[in-house]
Amino acid sequence: MAIQSARIRLLDEAPPREKADFVLYLMQQSMRADFNPALELAVEEANRLGLPVLVCFGLLDGANGFPEANARHYAFLLQGLVDAAAGLRKRGIAFHLRRATPAEVAIDLSAKAALLVLDRGYLAIQRRWYDTIVQDARCRIVQVEGDVVVPLETASPKHEYAARTLRPKLHKLWDAYLEPLKPRRVDHPAPELTVRGGLDVSDPDKLLAELTLDTAVGPVRRFRGGTSEARKRLDRFLAEGFGGYGAGRNKPEAGAASHMSPYLHFGQISPVEIALAIRASKSGDRDDRSAYLEELIVRRELAMNHVFRTEGYDDYARAVPEWARKTLAEHADDPRPHLYTEKVLAEGGTHDHYWNVAMREMRETGYMHNQLRMYWGKKILEWSPSPEEGFARTLRLNNRYFLDGRDANSFTNVAWVYGLHDRPWQTRKIFGSVRYQSENSLRKFDAKAYERAVIQLCEAEQA
Ligand SMILES: Cc1cc2nc3c(=O)[nH]c(=O)nc-3n(C[C@H](O)[C@H](O)[C@H](O)COP(=O)(O)OP(=O)(O)OC[C@H]3O[C@@H](n4cnc5c(N)ncnc54)[C@H](O)[C@@H]3O)c2cc1C
Repeated sequence: MAIQSARIRLLDEAPPREKADFVLYLMQQSMRADFNPALELAVEEANRLGLPVLVCFGLLDGANGFPEANARHYAFLLQGLVDAAAGLRKRGIAFHLRRATPAEVAIDLSAKAALLVLDRGYLAIQRRWYDTIVQDARCRIVQVEGDVVVPLETASPKHEYAARTLRPKLHKLWDAYLEPLKPRRVDHPAPELTVRGGLDVSDPDKLLAELTLDTAVGPVRRFRGGTSEARKRLDRFLAEGFGGYGAGRNKPEAGAASHMSPYLHFGQISPVEIALAIRASKSGDRDDRSAYLEELIVRRELAMNHVFRTEGYDDYARAVPEWARKTLAEHADDPRPHLYTEKVLAEGGTHDHYWNVAMREMRETGYMHNQLRMYWGKKILEWSPSPEEGFARTLRLNNRYFLDGRDANSFTNVAWVYGLHDRPWQTRKIFGSVRYQSENSLRKFDAKAYERAVIQLCEAEQA
């Protein structure tokens, strides 16, 4: 199947360099060795030019480190890169990992490349890398958008108001993009191709130990990074958890969730691959399928639309809509019966037992079910001295402990707690007309069963 043209953008029109050693692919977002349109385009170009492909990755640590990333995130990232490197090697493609910014690696290696292929993420830091590369790498540059189902600008030319405004656009378009992507044959294999300054990618633990990182939040055993792991989990979910996803989605104790979010965040699995597997699955019914595709495509791509179209998406004043900021400001002086510091929140030391249990799941295992994330976020708003402070600390906790943190989904969903993509509701204290969530929502599922599951998961982390 051809790579859809709407996924491809030419960022530098220079012709391919005539004397070149390879076609270079900077694999910084779609971290996988197949079902990756940027990689397949690099292979097609390399075959056409009679060259091998070199894949590179810039690893940041210390003062240069990726904002808010800690040892938990890096462990998962490195496990994924080792898995991707093995997959690439099998296909006859070399992988070069270097301690430098992605832009530095790409610019340096592009001097020997016929052309440079980039993949695409939407966060501000990623966009700054692309700008630097386009400015300083003197060669043909092609960008391929492979971590969304519908390419972002094809889906919508503007900031979408809510899921209901983006949904019909995506529904109209998504069939054209839900197609399998076969790995192309590599005509000029060179898995041993080496360039100076590369790190050994055989052992993720050794690599992790060599980096300067915030180790206060450590790796988790619950999730191992990599495409192979992602696929195993997806298969298990389709066999055991998918039937009933539509109805069970609001029940965190029922296990009706795919746990794909860390793998999607690190680009270790393609959303198109997941969507095709969901469509083809023999388990689950129509409701399960449409509920899952709503989350995976509509909600996830709405989040990307928001961060791409909002300068300052991590800033309360710019990310939260005006009506919501106004009503929250009007209620900023309302008495707050419970006020907690960020430290007490992080430790799960509040008066709310099940909130503390959810916080424990997040802190110790790096994940929380969507239903509880909503409750968790709304309570931080209620228990913080001001909406601005509540927003900032929710984002900090979210990005520190969740493996899927620092994602477009992180920034967008935290802003949702404060009214983004929502509408005004009945007015009440502290929240004004921003949607409130009461303790009663915990009665809709078996909270005791959820607590037992969290205790087991946390014990497994310690074992
Ligand atoms: C306060 C708050 C903070 C959140 N922080 C994050 C975050 O840091 N990173 C993150 O990826 N998601 C975040 N979410 C969205 C959602 O909770 C998670 O994506 C989901 O729980 C991940 O678990 P799963 O993969 O098992 O989900 P499943 O239910 O199996 O869903 C499949 C996929 O659909 C997408 N999805 C599901 N729910 C949402 C949603 N509400 N918005 C956008 N996409 C969705 C995800 O990519 C997910 O992997 C947050 C939600 C809230 C309310």
